[in-house]
Amino acid sequence: MEIYLDNAATTKPCEAAVNAACDCMRSNYGNPSSLHSKGLSAQLVVDDARKTIAKEVACDPTGVYFTSGATESNNLAVIGAAEAYGKRKPKIITSSVEHASVSAAMDLLEKRGFEIVRISPDTNGEFHHEDFVNAVDDRTCLMSIMAVNNETGYIMPVRRAFYGAKKKNPDIITHCDAVQAFMKKPVKMTELCADLISLSGHKIHGGKGVGALCVRKGVRLIPRVYGGKQERGMRSGTEGVPMIASFGAAVKYLRGTMDKRWEQVSELKQFLLERLKFVDGVTINSKSSASPYIINISAEGIRSEIMLHFLEQKGIYVSSGSACSKGMQSGVLSQFGISASLADSAIRVSLCADNVMYDLKEFALALAEGKERLIYSGK
Ligand code: PMP
Repeated sequence: MEIYLDNAATTKPCEAAVNAACDCMRSNYGNPSSLHSKGLSAQLVVDDARKTIAKEVACDPTGVYFTSGATESNNLAVIGAAEAYGKRKPKIITSSVEHASVSAAMDLLEKRGFEIVRISPDTNGEFHHEDFVNAVDDRTCLMSIMAVNNETGYIMPVRRAFYGAKKKNPDIITHCDAVQAFMKKPVKMTELCADLISLSGHKIHGGKGVGALCVRKGVRLIPRVYGGKQERGMRSGTEGVPMIASFGAAVKYLRGTMDKRWEQVSELKQFLLERLKFVDGVTINSKSSASPYIINISAEGIRSEIMLHFLEQKGIYVSSGSACSKGMQSGVLSQFGISASLADSAIRVSLCADNVMYDLKEFALALAEGKERLIYSGK
């Protein structure tokens, strides 16, 4: 039995993505920069994926730059915009719960002399767009806020914060890390008031090692990678054509089914919450208003990793709920007002529309068993 409930970490590639990647490895293997027809054929694949993503984000295809993933997209957006616009305006506003690929970039800029304002939620763990807007002044060059938090599913007030920020200071550049929202809820450049949007292929049933940064026309960025001037000089290096093809194929596969899948996954979440009512000592850390795709829970008294491995023995895969990578705590849960002891036992269940009620029934049963057995054995 294999029950995969770790879709916020990565998703299983869909058949269309696998086929698209395989085709580019088996036969359409040219270098898009080559001048012969084999190169052109590969270029057409990249262009098609670019157009597909641009359509989904409602931006110009010339503004879609492929990267190695959202980590690179976030680095390029934050550092690239800071370097382009921050000389005379060295202030940046962000949230205190960003993914490490944004927060570490902010730390770096802080060391270089930028003023970084990290907005925290209130004592109930709620963010308010006014807090972001109030921090804006005429020295602010950039505001960066994620769409959906990857540990809790919390939906950030991005649109209202960006709208307010631009009203107060029209020159401000706005960046959204939309990794956990893309293809789950609408991510449209103009509706979000975003100038820069980061996306990742492997969170939406595409391949790993591909992402995109969508850039509004007229926004300048200083590139992070120099060389052969691929991606119109924004990201040099031979394009990862197979993975780019898989990214485009995954978007096409999911297109038009967002509402249906959101509903399906909401039902799955509801089913899980009902089941968990029968398990003693379980706390739901995610808010009821959170994205249904991510449910952070704590089985009190049992450390996350211990429970994670117990579940794994039963063929159930989840994440430890407070880890950004390999067991390192990111501190995001404490920002949301979740106590250290709950954070220590946090498990992240993350869904996709391919999950079924049976998966969650088995998870709840295994969690209950784990709770009894692990507490009994003193772990
Ligand atoms: N931002 C968020 C919100 C994420 O969840 C992730 C993936 N953990 C990333 C950025 C980084 O994406 P990638 O794995 O494509 O580098």
